Amino acid sequence: MTSLRTLQDRRVLVVGLGKSGIGAVRLALREGARVTAFDERSIESISGSINGAAVASLVGSGVEFFCGERDFGQRVELFRAADLVVVSPGFPLARPEIAAARQAGAQVVGEIELASWFLDKGATVIGISGTNGKSTVTSLTGELCAASGRATFAGGNLGYPLSEAIVRGDAIDFAVLELSSFQLEGVESLRPKVACLTNLTPDHIDRYADHAAYGAAKKRIFRNQDESDFGVVNARDPGVLGLIEGERCQRFTFGVGPVADRAARFDAGTISLRLDSGEETYRLANANLRGPHNAENAMAAILCARLSGVSPEAIQSGLDSYPGLAHRLEIVGEVDGVEFVNDSKATNLDSTIVALRSFERGVFLIAGGRGKGLPYAPLAELAHGRVECVLTIGEDASLIEKACEGFVPAIGCGDLETATRAAFERARPGDVVLLSPACASYDQFANFEARGEAFRAIARALGKERRGGGR
Ligand code: ADP
Repeated sequence: MTSLRTLQDRRVLVVGLGKSGIGAVRLALREGARVTAFDERSIESISGSINGAAVASLVGSGVEFFCGERDFGQRVELFRAADLVVVSPGFPLARPEIAAARQAGAQVVGEIELASWFLDKGATVIGISGTNGKSTVTSLTGELCAASGRATFAGGNLGYPLSEAIVRGDAIDFAVLELSSFQLEGVESLRPKVACLTNLTPDHIDRYADHAAYGAAKKRIFRNQDESDFGVVNARDPGVLGLIEGERCQRFTFGVGPVADRAARFDAGTISLRLDSGEETYRLANANLRGPHNAENAMAAILCARLSGVSPEAIQSGLDSYPGLAHRLEIVGEVDGVEFVNDSKATNLDSTIVALRSFERGVFLIAGGRGKGLPYAPLAELAHGRVECVLTIGEDASLIEKACEGFVPAIGCGDLETATRAAFERARPGDVVLLSPACASYDQFANFEARGEAFRAIARALGKERRGGGR
């Protein structure tokens, strides 16, 4: 396949006007392409979306919009007319329009691939994927790289698209890219110096025919690497170990247990690295990285940064200053020695289980919302001994209360404010009020972010009331 790195006067079709699609449109326009933007939503519906203002700003910039429902023939004609199709992660590459474009000679890529063509040759690319922990590892690796004083972009799926940074003309020495499996499908020539797969569990089966197809998408992260590049994988996860098998990159692993060569290991607050250059240790004492899952994320990030040439001193300093990500075990306040932790991103049972494993005891757990139809028994079993009381909210409240019977006390509170106040009233200094709902938020909030923000506001109000006098 010939690559269209010069976009001047080329016909570029951008499919999907989400964040990354808008970035791709801007970049293609900057490069002098003739750009058409296609979205199956009507222009009215896009205008009302979160990206409405950004799309409006493109009107008059020369881009041609092709939005709303069109019949199949029209769509195929549009796709066949393009030299380059830039596909958003939400648009499956298995769609017949894509086959039609390819058949007509078009190159088909994702936004990250497109943006990577315009990175400085000297930029170091670090690619991060996996089922869980991508955003944490990406943002933490970004923090570690930035601590070296060199210009760092950390984003992709997380934050804002690489195209936007390129269009803005940002200096980029390190490009730390969170790559979802959908984004990896659109990668052709992107070659990470370090490629990390955090873990692999069944997910997104709705889009993939089976687990193998999901794995095949993830495996693309290694495809352009050679022997001078590095792969970083979880030592305990047979899924990712299987995927890196036979790849050309040098393999490094992370996990718990005895230190092995070319590996990172965690034990009692210390991360040890055994590299070809010798052994190094790092202190993991940041409260924004609590829990065994975050020890894994920290090991992965340290390896990514270190193998990219960041010094141990910069890595330690970045580890200590990492501010954490919003809505993922985020400390949002402390009142009278009671800590408020916002884990609103936990929209399923697995995530809440991961959160609970991060605390030994003294937890007041706020859980509930729109459930996914799975039994809550594993949650109740794990809560036994660690959780003082479960405060339930939302549609699944009574199911959770029922599951808790015999394991842990549960109180039906209805809404988040009632639950947070009830938890605080019962908590003692040293305890934690943890919002980790194990459910989607849509029955009571616009999204998990709104739920987390509401929790933050309630914690803040409790702090103010307390300072104003009396509990
Ligand atoms: P992603 O970007 O892959 O969704 P995040 O870093 O945003 O991952 O974390 C999302 C949730 O996944 C966290 O709230 C936590 O419940 C869980 N998680 C994070 N890291 C790990 C890990 N290393 N292993 C298992 N689960 C994890």
